[in-house]
Amino acid sequence: MPAVSFEFFPPKSLQGSFRLWDCVSTLAPLKPEWVSVTYGAGGTTRELTRDAVAALGQEFGLNVAGHLTCVDASREETLDVARGFRAAGVTDIVALRGDPPKGADGFTPHPDGFQNSVELVEALAADGFNVRVGCYPDIHPEAAGPDADLDWLKRKIDAGASEAVSQFFFEAETFLRFRDRAVKAGIEATLVPGILPIEDWTKASKFARACGATIPEALEAAFERALRDDRADLLAIAQATELCDMLVEEGCDHLHFYTLNRPELTRDVCAALGLVPEASLSRVA
Ligand code: FAD
Repeated sequence: MPAVSFEFFPPKSLQGSFRLWDCVSTLAPLKPEWVSVTYGAGGTTRELTRDAVAALGQEFGLNVAGHLTCVDASREETLDVARGFRAAGVTDIVALRGDPPKGADGFTPHPDGFQNSVELVEALAADGFNVRVGCYPDIHPEAAGPDADLDWLKRKIDAGASEAVSQFFFEAETFLRFRDRAVKAGIEATLVPGILPIEDWTKASKFARACGATIPEALEAAFERALRDDRADLLAIAQATELCDMLVEEGCDHLHFYTLNRPELTRDVCAALGLVPEASLSRVA
């Protein structure tokens, strides 16, 4: 049975807080190895992320990782957020460079900030945090090419990251080929596949297109038909379950789910994989 982890985003309203609570209450009984809370683009959710990681750790007893980016912040401001995580008992960080603010022409480091993700990883690892980083099976759109993308990933690992969590992708082959190339490039750290159970095909495919990811024609056609027949959720569960099955068969022993704070599809995919909530196990016993 694979280990799982779940990504949430911090709530921005009272309604959002209830939704997060519901999501975590539904998924926590699946005993994730860890969960994480994202950091808004441009550092827009600094306090919200810190408060959410603290609450999830304290109220649910989960191992929590806070995401952290270095967009639009000095080194001190960035490290201050990390110290806030530690004060809340959180010593795991998913460290990312972050995307430039909307409309900006590429990433420009803050004059007193970390210049890139490698510098951020180095500083956090030196300060004793367990650091995970992002990786891109479909190749990051800013990469000069596939090899340059892997060279950069290797630099992040060599700077002290313990493992890398991937961007979502649609086909197992995409991840497996990427993993093979990473091994050839001398990357020994675990690469954890990121799974997006597709709640909204239009948004998922738009995001993938913007990232330059390959969208299988057959999947596009299947979602178009399923949307017409009002069966998109069924297709989403079947697609994500088959993807996970193939990855597990090929030796992936950890799956990271992008929940988008909607627990149902992730819960159903986990159930299809045979992951049973602990509460129902104890009721059976
Ligand atoms: P990097 O790995 O630093 O850069 C991405 C690619 O660009 C590299 O692989 C490399 O090819 C190239 N590159 C960048 N800098 C250089 C350089 N100096 N020299 C050579 N090549 C370079 N964003 C948020 O805002 N908040 C989040 O919470 C968040 N969570 C995420 C979680 C995961 C698991 C993933 C995969 C992404 C997440 N993102 C998040 C998105 C992320 O911030 C963007 O994808 C961003 O564009 C890249 O961040 P990174 O740290 O992966 O970049």
